[in-house]
Amino acid sequence: MNMPILIIGAGLSGLTTARLLTNSGIPNIVFEASPPDRSQGFSISLRDWGYEVLLEALGGLPLSSLTRGVAPDRHVGGHGWVDLVMRDSRTGEVLVAPDPATQPSIVRANRNALRAWIADCGDDELDIRYGHRLQSVQGTIGDMTAVFENGSRYRGSLVVAADGVHSTVRSKILPHIVPEVVPAVVYHGEFQLPRVEFERLIRPLAGASNVLAGVGDGFNTPITICNLTPTLAHLDWSYSRPARGDDDPLYRPNSTGEEAKQIPQALLDELATCSLAEPWAQILSAEAIRQHSVFHWTSRYVSMARSDADAAAERGVVFVGDSWHAMPIFGGEGGNHALVDGVELAAALRDGLSHLDKAVAAYYDGAWRRCHDAVRRSKGRFYVLHRPIAEWRELAEKKVSMSSSRSTSVPVPV
Ligand SMILES: Cc1cc2nc3c(=O)[nH]c(=O)nc-3n(C[C@H](O)[C@H](O)[C@H](O)COP(=O)(O)OP(=O)(O)OC[C@H]3O[C@@H](n4cnc5c(N)ncnc54)[C@H](O)[C@@H]3O)c2cc1C
Repeated sequence: MNMPILIIGAGLSGLTTARLLTNSGIPNIVFEASPPDRSQGFSISLRDWGYEVLLEALGGLPLSSLTRGVAPDRHVGGHGWVDLVMRDSRTGEVLVAPDPATQPSIVRANRNALRAWIADCGDDELDIRYGHRLQSVQGTIGDMTAVFENGSRYRGSLVVAADGVHSTVRSKILPHIVPEVVPAVVYHGEFQLPRVEFERLIRPLAGASNVLAGVGDGFNTPITICNLTPTLAHLDWSYSRPARGDDDPLYRPNSTGEEAKQIPQALLDELATCSLAEPWAQILSAEAIRQHSVFHWTSRYVSMARSDADAAAERGVVFVGDSWHAMPIFGGEGGNHALVDGVELAAALRDGLSHLDKAVAAYYDGAWRRCHDAVRRSKGRFYVLHRPIAEWRELAEKKVSMSSSRSTSVPVPV
């Protein structure tokens, strides 16, 4: 096969696919709409079933190789550890703590660092063309053309749609599939603290954990480490709760990118009524938030029927990551599935390069059920994580452990 595989999107799914195809000597090109220096500095939770598959596919790398490259606290000797403890954000008291014997292995990863690490995990450099926003795709499997807004056109054997929840490829090939909005209010703020201030304010409760999870009466307030250095702590917070009908002043699913960056007075007023304890009280105070880079997330999910995936395959397109199974961010699974998709698609193509249609079908045979179930699960998890405080207290009293050995329902906020 001479023509390259055309991968649209340099996120986790696209880069994983590209890295593994490249390591197998299969020609491919990645096209990314953004410039190379974009920032997505927040961190995500990687689960053992996600990172182990990736490390194995990369040649059996040890976990330490990953954590040295991506852990938010790697610059100060950390390994991205998460304690999975849920605290009452009005008192700081521990509500739920997992049993260390059965605690699942979760590693925090800075998303920027993870993308760079995946791209670097091989001898041959990836061919990534930044500033290439896909406009349309044409052709049939074996002979595809991708057309970009900058006027360039490329031919390839297959198009891999790794272009995220708002996938252009999906909107052209399967226009009837549109992302659905989760009725959730989610505000996200990024900020920095001098390291000494971090040690004084956050460390006493968070200990060595990269996530300080706080819950209230139907709301969540996690604080997470994005990047920790000897002198600075780059952190973020989220405030989330179910939407309260159409008149909810904080539920703005149709806001534009600029509107999503505004801090509504209603948010400040609502946070002031939450009776938060330290460190949440200080970090989520009106005065502090006005200094943060705040964003209103609209959480969306995508579900694709197997028949739609098969129809797209006949037209030379295969989906990986959020483009076909974006899921609510609560309890984070989406990034893990994006990695596993990339691993499984690259393996199927390596084993069946001469019959692309069969290779794509083999990929979906494994991936479709896994991803379909995950979207359903993560929608339900939103309500579990935002339960009334009385239910959290009941759990605390019963000393119920929320963990299980390989459970995907462990409540890891964002
Ligand atoms: C706040 C937050 C917290 C999260 N926490 C977790 C977590 O803890 N654990 C977890 O597993 N997951 C988490 N996720 C989800 C995870 O980040 C995503 O599931 C994952 O990044 C999806 O990867 P992807 O490659 O499919 O898509 P993306 O990362 O969205 O990448 C798509 C890429 O395609 C590019 N693109 C888009 N359109 C075009 C076009 N027309 N032409 C060319 N390029 C294009 C985009 O610029 C982008 O680079 C979180 C997400 C958010 C927002």
